[in-house]
Amino acid sequence: MMPYRKKSEVEALLKEVREIYAMLEQVPIERDCIRRTECCYFTRTGLTPQLTSGEGLLAARAWRASGRKELKPRADGGCPMLIGELGKGKCAIYADRPFGCRTHFCEAAGGPYARRDVVELIRRLEAIDVALGGHGPKSLTASIEEGMKWKAI
Ligand code: SF4
Repeated sequence: MMPYRKKSEVEALLKEVREIYAMLEQVPIERDCIRRTECCYFTRTGLTPQLTSGEGLLAARAWRASGRKELKPRADGGCPMLIGELGKGKCAIYADRPFGCRTHFCEAAGGPYARRDVVELIRRLEAIDVALGGHGPKSLTASIEEGMKWKAI
């Protein structure tokens, strides 16, 4: 469980997470996510995005902002942020989707980013995790669930 932090501190940290996502967009690697959502079916890919606390908190906030109050597991192995059926769904938090969802292995989007190309951004996310009292990355669902329970003072 993340410890309590002042709201202003949390806002500054979440702003930095968004800046990191924006910087990732500037990394000169040709990629084109066309939202096929195949990577959002973790039981099919065998890979689940691992989120730092700032990513989980930002995703939880986006999930709540979409009008939803809780996470429900999907019977088909899809990400709980995915709305709709297999092949036709869409991410409910696309603008605030986690780092791993932006750098994943999807061949249709251009394949994975090499770690060396994004390692500085990863380190910044890890530093935010520490600042929020996190203990390293957690699976997407666990991290977002924790973010939904988190409260600032
Ligand atoms: S957060 Fe969005 S993009 Fe990432 S796996 Fe879930 S539905 Fe897909």
